[in-house]
Amino acid sequence: MRILLTNDDGIHAPGLLALKNELSRTAEVDVVAPMAEQSAVGHSITLHRPLRVIEIERDGELVGYGVNGAPADCVKLALAELLDERPDVVVSGINLGANVGVNVLYSGTVAAAIEGAMFGIPSLAVSIEIEDRPQFDPAARIVGKLIRKMPLAELGDHVILNVNVPAIPPSRIKGVKVTRQSVRAPEEAFDRRTDPRGRYYYWITADFDGLAEEEGTDVNALRDGYVSITPLHFDMTRHTLLQKLGNWDLGGGLA
Ligand code: MN
Repeated sequence: MRILLTNDDGIHAPGLLALKNELSRTAEVDVVAPMAEQSAVGHSITLHRPLRVIEIERDGELVGYGVNGAPADCVKLALAELLDERPDVVVSGINLGANVGVNVLYSGTVAAAIEGAMFGIPSLAVSIEIEDRPQFDPAARIVGKLIRKMPLAELGDHVILNVNVPAIPPSRIKGVKVTRQSVRAPEEAFDRRTDPRGRYYYWITADFDGLAEEEGTDVNALRDGYVSITPLHFDMTRHTLLQKLGNWDLGGGLA
């Protein structure tokens, strides 16, 4: 199996290195990842400056290619230019910080996986809940087991699996739950401060903790101590409304 590994925390992030070590035991792993942290850049790509690629080594060994772009740039460039062979799977992570609920929409980690799915490759986004001392190695072992276990080819086109690991000791993880994405909006909050010239500026401080949640969601699974797996689809069409809107006769009288 060949795996393209990327992330949004940057090529030096411990979560990526843990996953590279684990996945390399049973697969050929190519790393193409951003040179610098790109968290919350979503599915942005780089249009107005050139993309540079640098081979990154650690302890005398090649880690992979660092790119001065966004996660989606990395996957595009890897598939079109950098890799000799097409990967069987794209894996993005392990991100430091859960990507659940509406966070999924801002996530560079998830965007990189979506980019893989756009090219018809089974893709996973992997994140771990934030805590003081994140345990990337046990989380990487869980992901390695899942990848070896899952018949990924059966997922079909345009699907990614969004995997989130709870921030509890691995021995206390209760199992795996297949979940839907929570769509509850966080309570928006900003910290307003004053600069030396008396003008206001703002830090976003939205907090996802303490939200009432619903059964069956990714947020709930993490809170209950389960690994959450959500199948995501990047076709944003609301298919159930196609017929209704079609019946609205919107074309009449426009000309
Ligand atoms: Mn990140």
